[in-house]
Amino acid sequence: MGVTRKLRMGMVGGGPGAFIGPVHKMAAELDGKIELVAGAFSQSAERSRVAGEGFGIDVNRAYAGYLEMLESERKRADAIDFVVIATPNHLHLPVAVESLAAGFAVMSDKPATATYDEVLKLEAAVAKAGLPYGLTHTYAGYSLVREARAICASDELGSIRKIAVEYLQGWLSKPLETTGQKQAGWRSDPALNGPGGCIGDIGTHAFHLVEYVTGLRVTGLNATLRSVVPGRKLDDDCSAFLKLNNGASGVLMASQVAAGEGNGLRLRVYCEKGSIDWKQEDPNRLRVKWLDRPEEIRHAAAGYLSGDARAVTRLPGGHPEGYIEAFAVLYREFAEVLTARSRGEAGALPATLPGIVAGVRGMRFIDRAIKSSRAERWVEF
Ligand code: NAD
Repeated sequence: MGVTRKLRMGMVGGGPGAFIGPVHKMAAELDGKIELVAGAFSQSAERSRVAGEGFGIDVNRAYAGYLEMLESERKRADAIDFVVIATPNHLHLPVAVESLAAGFAVMSDKPATATYDEVLKLEAAVAKAGLPYGLTHTYAGYSLVREARAICASDELGSIRKIAVEYLQGWLSKPLETTGQKQAGWRSDPALNGPGGCIGDIGTHAFHLVEYVTGLRVTGLNATLRSVVPGRKLDDDCSAFLKLNNGASGVLMASQVAAGEGNGLRLRVYCEKGSIDWKQEDPNRLRVKWLDRPEEIRHAAAGYLSGDARAVTRLPGGHPEGYIEAFAVLYREFAEVLTARSRGEAGALPATLPGIVAGVRGMRFIDRAIKSSRAERWVEF
């Protein structure tokens, strides 16, 4: 029969003032299948306790560090079922490796690790542990991204010829990292972030969306990375040409100095008979543009959508779903994997849920983009 109670989650990161940790809690708990019960929320024991109180968990399970959390939770009859990683990037590898070694499944935020070498170690650790490892490329959870994916997998538009993806933000247009701002601080420090700045932070989301939606694989790229803001140690603006394995070409733009932009992620896929166009800031509409007939706008939750798109909608049409709900789709799929395993089933990740394969490709993308930019030439993927 397997687990019938809520799955228990332990979080690393997500302390007071953190961005994505609280989002993980909201998303994980949305469908009533998971609850946050423990965490090592901060590198400070006191701040971890404050966060635990804020999240409403038993403060005895708000630990001073993630090793203490793993050690203590292992001994409990009501131990956590999995660990979620919502820390700066340099901790993704050690927390994931230790969690897997302690017997816990892992849901990690992206990028999978700080460096390409690290992700190869993580890949080996995931294989050795034989436990589920999910990666929260949030945009994969949107219903209309699943619709775009279903369109590309069908022959509706014919073969793919050209891809344009852009992820434009403006929040690092000034040297925010010199002001003590938490999120900008570690993201601008190579030791905490890894060598890819904007390319790692949001370029990886854009890259993932391209491969996730089209089903194609990038085989080569020619990238230019720049640090536009004086004194910034990592790239904040990136442009790349892509070669795809079906002969199509792509253009990827990622910038955090695109003044005035919020979270401007947009994907366009041009095919023989028409194209698709999806924007994260207008996520409930997917434009399908035809060569020989008027443009179509597909609405989230509509009955005419593909089964994959309808499977991840919670509300009737006209009631907007957004970022939290998309995030929650990934958690729901992860919970289903853990529940299947508790019934003795194999419990592999579904193809719709990003995992270690996407993690390795994302880190390779960062690595190749940096190499290409330094050498000022095309590099093979
Ligand atoms: P943040 O700085 O807001 O939060 C990081 C948290 O980790 C802080 O609370 C910090 O105290 C805590 N932390 C640091 N060291 C720790 C340690 N040793 N033990 C326990 N906690 C520790 O950063 P953020 O913006 O929330 O980003 C966190 C991660 O999430 C990054 O890897 C980032 O790339 C990723 N992220 C993903 C998305 C997405 O859309 N999926 C969005 C934002 C951030």
